[in-house]
Parts: sequence; structure tokens; C-alpha cells
Amino acid sequence: MIPLDEALAHVLARCEPLVPGPVPALSAAGLVLAGDVVAAEAVPPFVNTAMDGYAVRAADTAGAPVVLPVAGEVAAGHPADRPLAAGEAMRIFTGAPVPEGADAVVMVERTEPLDGRRSVRIQVAVEPGTHLRAAGEDLKPGERVFGTGDEVTPARLGVLASLGVAEVVAHPRPRVGVLSTGDELVTGPAPLQPGQIRDSNRPTLLALVAQAGFEPVDLGRVADDEPGIAGAIERGAATCDAVLSSGGVSMGDIDLVRVVLDRIGDMRWMQVAIRPAKPLAFGLVPGPAGRPVPVFGLPGNPVSSMVSFALFARAGLRRLAGHPDARLHLPRYRAVAAEPLARRPDGKIHFVRVVTTVSPAGELHVRSSGGQGSHQLGAMARADGLAVLPDGDGVGAGEPVEVVLLAEPPTAASPS
Ligand code: AMP
Ligand code: MG
Repeated sequence: MIPLDEALAHVLARCEPLVPGPVPALSAAGLVLAGDVVAAEAVPPFVNTAMDGYAVRAADTAGAPVVLPVAGEVAAGHPADRPLAAGEAMRIFTGAPVPEGADAVVMVERTEPLDGRRSVRIQVAVEPGTHLRAAGEDLKPGERVFGTGDEVTPARLGVLASLGVAEVVAHPRPRVGVLSTGDELVTGPAPLQPGQIRDSNRPTLLALVAQAGFEPVDLGRVADDEPGIAGAIERGAATCDAVLSSGGVSMGDIDLVRVVLDRIGDMRWMQVAIRPAKPLAFGLVPGPAGRPVPVFGLPGNPVSSMVSFALFARAGLRRLAGHPDARLHLPRYRAVAAEPLARRPDGKIHFVRVVTTVSPAGELHVRSSGGQGSHQLGAMARADGLAVLPDGDGVGAGEPVEVVLLAEPPTAASPS
């Protein structure tokens, strides 16, 4: 057996970021930038008002309350057609350009329209700059806004749009093929024949690929047959940036994915000191123009394939996508075991399927989500985290334990 860190390091050392290229900004959500974005414009582009109210010269409000004639109206998208003169006010709405000559805005709540809105009583004195948003207050021309390794999040997409950036240089979204292997597997609702089971790994892995932000490609199911498996992996490598297979990587005689990867690629078969998901076959298979395509031979047991995805494949795929090192892995959080999580020493790290709750004090509490067999997808489906139990006897109730979150952290405080 090899340690988890060593297996991960092996995988990551062989996953190269995909070659970056120009991408329309509007299609870049979730992609990782491979170059700087520099602001060519100021945001906001002009001085504007943060409030509905009246644009004034602050000096004119010194003796408030004061009555000023209303010289016009400026709304968002409709600049004033003349400057504000001394002793005047202009009605102004949020986002409208502040007219030349004005240096402050009095919010509407501190005013009173008079004389059929031809004049206004200003009830408070304001300082110059009150309620103004300066040009460039958010972003200044020439400022480096984003850089290599930054993911285009929804907020960053908004910044690109504010700046009028039409194109960015980014790593492409990895296309990830998913393949199931096994003579016993069937798809569809037909009654099962003796010995058959339904293929659950393929839909699960396709969904995990999509959830992680990559493009899933269904490569179908193949029987336990060497040429069939080889053909499917080669087809996957020809059209995808990475391939995930499940099944056929443990010790047994018919574990053909391991055999095939060894023959057609540069493969390492690993027995990782973890439970579940001990076996992992990871290899590079030649793709178009000889480019090495990573192939993850994940274990067949449904929980194992998911845990192996979370620990190895997700990290490797994120490297292909261009994420920096610190962002490759699922973060681990400090939690408290709300019940004993017992285990026996066996030289492995155990990843226990748990349900997390947030205590009234804001602590993350974890409890087993049920049967921990690697075939028991039910408990995996109930879980939103994996408690990390180092080799030993486990943890007692109330003791600290690390947890990897598989879903959004629970937001609602729940009693524990
Ligand atoms: P294997 O690694 O191929 O020996 O598979 C280990 C276990 O996982 C066996 O019980 C298989 O039937 C099961 N298994 C393999 N592939 C799948 C799949 N795609 N969906 C559900 N179970 C699977
Ligand atoms: Mg099999």
C-alpha cells in the first residue's frame, strides 16, 4: 500500500493544464484564466449618485433649511443638458451622472418639494462629496483586475462585463469521458436477469464531472473483454481530455482495465492506504497528436468510485482546468464527532460517510450516515461529508475530527 499523499502526488504530476486560448468572456464562467485582465476603463465610468434626491452645491446648503429652485431632472442614462449653477438644485435619481457644477446630493428623504416641484426645501447641510460615487472608485484604468489561476466566478464575470472585456485567455473546460466496465451491468428499467445489476456508476460519475464544472461525455458501458475495453478507452482518449472508467481495477483475474491500461498506456496501479477506494489505476494514454490523456481507472464499488473521484480524479481534472495547487483539493474542516466513530487499526485512512449539522455554537457536528460498506450507496446518498479517520481506533463522541464536505455546508443552525 502507498500513502494517500503519494498517490495524489503521482496523479497530479501527470496532469498538465490544458493549453489556454482566447475565449469569449460570456462563455468563460467557471474557466480558469491564463493571463492578466487589466482594466481599460474606469468603473464607475463617471461621477454618479448613490441616492435619489437633489444634486446641489454643498456650499448652498450651509444655512439649511434652505429653499432652492429646481433647475431640471437627471435620471440614469439621461445626463443633464447644462451645468448646475450656484443657488440651484436638480432632481436626480440613483445612477444618474452628477451634473457639472454640483458636488453633493441631498437624499430625497431630507427634502420637501415646494411650489409644484418648481423648488425644493433642503432640510440638512451636506459636505462636498455626499452620496457621490467617484469615477473609478471600483476599478481604475490600468489596474490589474484578475490574473493567471483566477477562476471566472459569477462576480468576476460581472466585472468583465462592467469593463467591456469581450474576450479572455483561459484554459478550456476539460471534456471528461465516463465509461463503465462489467459483464454484470445493465442500463434501463428491464427486469434484471440472474446475476445482473444496474449500472449506477456511470450516471453518478457523469453528474460528479458536471458538478465539478467539467463537460461530461458518456462513453457507455463495455463488457469484461480486453479488446472492448481497449477500444472504449482509445475512443475516449481521441475525443476527450481525460477518461474515467469504473470497475476492473482490483486484484482479481478479470480486472481488465488494469491489464488494458498497462498495455496501451503508461500506467501505474496503486493500492492506496485508504478505505474505501483502495485500488486506483492511473495512466496516460496517447491522444490526438500524441498528447497524453489521463485515464483514471476508478474502483467498481459505487461508494469507492465516488470517493476515488473526490480524492484523485477531481484534483487531477482541476489541474487540467488550470487551477493553482492550493485549489485542487476539497478542503478539510474541523468538526466534532456527535457520536463515536469507531474503527480498527489497519494502516489506512478511513473516509466515513457522515451527515453534518451546525450546532447552535456554530460548530460542525458529524454523525455516521449509515452502512459503511463500499457497495452501500444509500448511506453515501444521505451523506454530505466524509469524516477523515487516521489509522487507529477512531474518535469518541465529542472529540475533534476532520471532515471533507461533499455538498454545500449546512447553513441553518440545527440542534445537536
Ligand atoms: P470490480 O472492481 O469490477 O470488481 O467491481 C467491484 C464491485 O462493483 C462489483 O460488485 C461490481 O458489480 C460493482 N460495480 C462495478 N461497476 C459498477 C457500476 N458501473 N455500477 C454499479 N456497480 C458496479
Ligand atoms: Mg468488474
